[in-house]
Amino acid sequence: MTEPTLPGHPFIAYHEGELCVEQVRLSALASTYGTPLFVYSKAAMLSALAAYQLGFAGRNAQICYAMKANSTLGILQVFALAGCGFDIVSGGELARVLAAGGDPAKVIFSGVGKTRAEMRQALQVGIGCFNVESIAELDVLNEVAVGMGLRAPVSLRVNPNVDPQTHPYISTGLKGNKFGVAHEQAVETYLHASRLPGLKVVGIDCHIGSQITETTPYLDAMDRVLDLVTQVEAAGVPIHHIDFGGGLGINYNGDTPPAADALWAQLLAKLDARGFGQRQLMIEPGRSLVGNAGVCLSEVLYLKPGEQKNFCIIDAAMNDLPRPAMYQAYHHITPVRPRKGEGTLFDVVGPICESGDWIGRDRSLQVQPGDLLAVCSAGAYCMSMASNYNTRGRAAELLIDGDQVHVIRQRESVFDTFQLEQLPV
Ligand SMILES: *Cc1c(COP(=O)(O)O)cnc(C)c1O
Repeated sequence: MTEPTLPGHPFIAYHEGELCVEQVRLSALASTYGTPLFVYSKAAMLSALAAYQLGFAGRNAQICYAMKANSTLGILQVFALAGCGFDIVSGGELARVLAAGGDPAKVIFSGVGKTRAEMRQALQVGIGCFNVESIAELDVLNEVAVGMGLRAPVSLRVNPNVDPQTHPYISTGLKGNKFGVAHEQAVETYLHASRLPGLKVVGIDCHIGSQITETTPYLDAMDRVLDLVTQVEAAGVPIHHIDFGGGLGINYNGDTPPAADALWAQLLAKLDARGFGQRQLMIEPGRSLVGNAGVCLSEVLYLKPGEQKNFCIIDAAMNDLPRPAMYQAYHHITPVRPRKGEGTLFDVVGPICESGDWIGRDRSLQVQPGDLLAVCSAGAYCMSMASNYNTRGRAAELLIDGDQVHVIRQRESVFDTFQLEQLPV
């Protein structure tokens, strides 16, 4: 039997008929730590990072991991030790960066709804830059900074109005999105920022969407952003760094996004051609650094044959793996120990009381109750979006480094899920 090449290959692959992450057999992990269980390959993360580092070799560039993709402390530490900064979207994420040993000076604070308390927290620890999304936010940040006797470093997130050709929920750079300052208003917004005493303009940024698998949207967005840099600087506001956001896709289901180094070879050629090659560059990749570095291990509970559909009921659910329910997303599902013989078509579903609780549809599987399945490409936007819906404790997480197993998050107990609650009488 020939075994398929999985997303995450070569770090997640079959050896002697058994699925392994690096040098560790997943069946052994399931019996020690239970299921559902997230298992990540450190080498896969560092290899994804290396593609960006190679792309930027010899450039003045800072890679800021967009940590909402996976914000577990053990994951952040891997990137902090590798020299990354972080793109954050809340004060909670900032606290995580500091707890993991990240450098606040390499932190970028994104998001449309920063509170005053979050602004103060970020100014206190000296974060690198606020990516500001509106005039109203500029004014509030100015007030907060003046009140603290500080100047807040700011970049404006501009909306290049480019279609990233991805799912509508994860496209962010179109006019109808809530994100960013419209291209047409960017110059006057920069002039406004430059007149505020509590702000210091340091950069410009954009982020057009997520799971982008084409190069063209990036090239178009870069042209739009560089046009603005020229206009804003002509209006008298110097822009030190240019931040091109994140968004590069990964292979979930035969997707073929450009490799990070190949993408950046093209983007850097354009930057050079337009005379911006010496600028400080920033990027904010999330999914592409962690998505294919992890799997979610789950046990088959029941098989339920039906007239129209067969169901394979597993012990992981939409509270662990929210992407199918939220975005109709595809995750490849593969047996940990493949059996011989023909597969049967199943909808793979979880135990949660919602018809939306499905993990994969119409999958050909040869499985029995008690078998282990690996849900692939589960490193990004899974654990960080996990919930306790149906009073399910969240899964444990392991980081694999060669033959070493690090527990980076213990399984949440049911007691943990209600310990902040109180009975009224
Ligand atoms: C989510 C986000 C990112 C990362 O997006 P990916 O698709 O995971 O690379 C980067 N920048 C901002 C502002 C974001 O909101």
